[in-house]
Amino acid sequence: MKKLILVVVGAAMLAGCGQKDDNSLKMITEATFPPYEFLRGQEIAGIDVEICRAVAQKLNRPFKAETVDFDFVIPAVISGKAHLAAAGITVTEDRKKNVDFSIPYVKTGIVVIYKKSNPFTGKDQLKGKKIGVQSGTTSETFVLEQLLQEPERTKSPAEAVAALKSGRVDFVIADIDPAKNCVKGEAELALSDFITSEEYAVAIRKGQPELLKAIDETITELKASGQLDQWIRQFTEESDKLKGE
Ligand code: GLN
Repeated sequence: MKKLILVVVGAAMLAGCGQKDDNSLKMITEATFPPYEFLRGQEIAGIDVEICRAVAQKLNRPFKAETVDFDFVIPAVISGKAHLAAAGITVTEDRKKNVDFSIPYVKTGIVVIYKKSNPFTGKDQLKGKKIGVQSGTTSETFVLEQLLQEPERTKSPAEAVAALKSGRVDFVIADIDPAKNCVKGEAELALSDFITSEEYAVAIRKGQPELLKAIDETITELKASGQLDQWIRQFTEESDKLKGE
């Protein structure tokens, strides 16, 4: 009688090959927004990255961060490509229709960046002028809805400021912190006071109360311990230095 030799391939081994889902908590951001997110060489660094990393730690999951243009940040959590969207994202009624927001972690707003040779005197002065903004942002909404005109769209606050310096736009509107970073060391540029009042929060796909609770708890803890303030100081200093290089 012939011996029947059975070759058993372990199902467990097969399952281990080419695994797609790795349980990582994925953050999507837009890394041209210092000090909240910026590139340190190849690595994405900044306040938002640390907040999201702390959420992953709370959930005991590995952490990954990826950068895309700002226009694609919120769509990435809606489609499930990423779990957390954090990119200095302002909470707005419009965005609330599509995503859920955590509790806010910063109070902030947008400002006008102008040339000292052409001082900013007030909102009316902006009408009919070429205004540079980062595409998809609340600065863009301000130009569309408050000034009732089309802005000049760029991919980053820094690109808009380059357009201001070269005379392609008359003013730039951007969030205060990246704006401060952009004018650092630029003697001919200055910033206005706030022209809006905004708050940043983490955005996630709708209908995930447990994830939202974990983010809210993390933010509450980071505020209470002083860690958030420490990151704000640390990453402002680091991104200012990078600007100087
Ligand atoms: N806070 C602004 C917004 O949410 C800009 C954010 C950004 O450019 N990363 O639209």
